[in-house]
Amino acid sequence: MNNTSINDTSTKQSSTSEFAKQGTGPRFLIIGAGMAGILAAIKLQEAGYTNMCVYEKASELGGTWRENTYPGVACDVPSQLYSYSFAPNPEWSHFFSPGNEIEAYLKDVAARFDVMKYIQFNAEVTRLEYKEGRWHLQAEGGKQDIGDFIIAATGVLHHPSYPDIKGMDDFEGTSFHSARWDDTISLEDKRIGIIGTGSTAVQIVSALGGKVKELNVFQRTAQWVLKVENPTLDESDKKRYRENPDELRGLHDSLSRWFSDNFANAVVDADSEMVKLMEKLCVQNLEENIEDPLLREKLRPNYRAACKRLVISPDFYEAIQRPGVNLVTSKIDRIEKNGIRTVDGDLHELDIIVYATGFHVDAFMRPMGVFGRDGVSLADVWHDRPSAYLSISIPGFPNLFMLNGPNGPVGNFSLIEVAELQFDYIMQLIDQVLSGKCSEISATKEALERFDEERIEAAKKTVWVTGCRSWYLDDRGIPAAWPWTFDRFREEMAAPKLPNYEKV
Ligand code: NAP
Repeated sequence: MNNTSINDTSTKQSSTSEFAKQGTGPRFLIIGAGMAGILAAIKLQEAGYTNMCVYEKASELGGTWRENTYPGVACDVPSQLYSYSFAPNPEWSHFFSPGNEIEAYLKDVAARFDVMKYIQFNAEVTRLEYKEGRWHLQAEGGKQDIGDFIIAATGVLHHPSYPDIKGMDDFEGTSFHSARWDDTISLEDKRIGIIGTGSTAVQIVSALGGKVKELNVFQRTAQWVLKVENPTLDESDKKRYRENPDELRGLHDSLSRWFSDNFANAVVDADSEMVKLMEKLCVQNLEENIEDPLLREKLRPNYRAACKRLVISPDFYEAIQRPGVNLVTSKIDRIEKNGIRTVDGDLHELDIIVYATGFHVDAFMRPMGVFGRDGVSLADVWHDRPSAYLSISIPGFPNLFMLNGPNGPVGNFSLIEVAELQFDYIMQLIDQVLSGKCSEISATKEALERFDEERIEAAKKTVWVTGCRSWYLDDRGIPAAWPWTFDRFREEMAAPKLPNYEKV
């Protein structure tokens, strides 16, 4: 792409369908109208770029908060931190607010910042191809577009992972994944089985325990649970925040600082005092809140706290002891028409089975077909596993940038904060092109190889490799997450090291 093609898009764009709104200037194609896609649209518009389209597969925006509607869904990152820095929200109902409030917040921000007009709903992108210096996009129903830059904001935890258990199809009751909750079904009179004990299952147990006929929790591995209360923010708090936006901003910034200095730094150093403190608090939670010694031992993990993503809950241990709630630790043998049979021979009769079994975390943009320079396929490049320089750029895929891509900071962080830092960095790469310094930019192969070597080495110190199974680990058992401090991430995102980029 050269400067002419940036400014003179009229002829090229005549080949796109009417469906994609057109403007002048460089064209940006954003994939996904979740938290990160909305952020990209707002930031681009703010920078004066209005020739863009956000392609969204669903009929509503909201990403993970649209898809996860299970009882108890909430964000266990404090709401004041899980907010855009430029759109503090005085109206949060809780310290950790529920999912539907977050979805409403995203919709409200998209409307307030006037970016709804850029979103094309029901338009799942199926193919992206880099040809003659531009990205050619195909979406569902034969829709097409041509753009100069791709911002892939497709999320991390969005392809449900189902277990491979014998007889799943034989079950005659209702079954669904936690991210495909069937809201039409009444629950009170049902015997429910939940497979899994991750952050999702824990929230469901807290919400449903004692309120349904029976709740059987099938635990393969016990979880460490950090007890953090979830206070309600009352009208006086909201009024104060409305009247003092600086206080709200200050709260965002101080929470961000606290997470960086404490949690984020701790998990990347398994020997740190903070990890030891988290372990102590988790043990204390278990000892103090589970009365029955047998149940306590069933719930006691045999690996280090925070090795798996730390579960944060004010009341899981209380919920698991409510009447009608059973913790099943015998291994699942098979699923039968009436329920789940465990290897001890017991049949747990059920009306509903919930698979709270997590996500395929290595999919990112896939299954979309993405073809970079010289027709190279992303499916081939990522055949073994996904990787991207600083989680943002892939060699050979010029002018394509990812928000919350592979190897970024994930886990108990605000992914909003991560995406904001990444977007500002991406804008600096895009500026290289728009200022005429080059027409294409993507990370060099060497930079990615060096980054991968360094992060694999650094990962050896993290708590994630201290002996547990988790979605942080790739197929080789190497943590795929950012293994350094959050301050290092901030420093990296402050300005691109341009020698690490191939500029054509
Ligand atoms: P997850 O953490 O991957 O947990 C999956 C659970 O399913 C684990 O307990 C796992 O057991 C179990 N499991 C998987 N396959 C199984 C099988 N074949 N048989 C028996 N058990 C099986 O998934 P998640 O709970 O949905 O959470 C995923 C991520 O989403 C979280 O880590 C977090 O990042 C995010 N999340 C965030 C929030 C929030 O509040 N911010 C809430 C929910 C989710 P093992 O432990 O033995 O593997």
